[in-house]
Amino acid sequence: MKDSTKKKCRCCQKAKPLEQFHRLAGTAAIHPFCRPCLSATVRRRTASRGNRQATNTRGCAQCGQDLPVQMFHWLRASGSFHSYCRPCHSAYMAERYRRLQGARKRG
Ligand SMILES: [Zn+2]
Ligand SMILES: [Zn+2]
Repeated sequence: MKDSTKKKCRCCQKAKPLEQFHRLAGTAAIHPFCRPCLSATVRRRTASRGNRQATNTRGCAQCGQDLPVQMFHWLRASGSFHSYCRPCHSAYMAERYRRLQGARKRG
C-alpha cells in the first residue's frame, strides 16, 4: 500500500505517484502538474498553429521546462516575466510559507 505517496494533478485531476511529478529544486515543493500534463502544455501551444514564429516560450528557472509565456507572471516593474512559471511560483510560495510557519514555533 503506497497510496499515501500519490498526489492529485491540478491539470488532469488524476491521482498519480509522486515520481510522475517534477520536484522543485532546493525545496520540498512539488510541481502541481504531472509530467505528462507539463509537456502537454508545451506541446499544445507549440502545435496550435504549426508556426515556428508563434511559439513564445520561456524556460522556467525552477522546473526547467520550456513553457508558454502565458504560464508566467508578468512583472510590470521590471518589464519582464517571472523566472518561475505560475505553478512553480505558487508551489514555491506555499512551501516557503509552510517553512516560515515551522520556523516560528520555538521551545
Ligand atoms: Zn496531469
Ligand atoms: Zn516551472
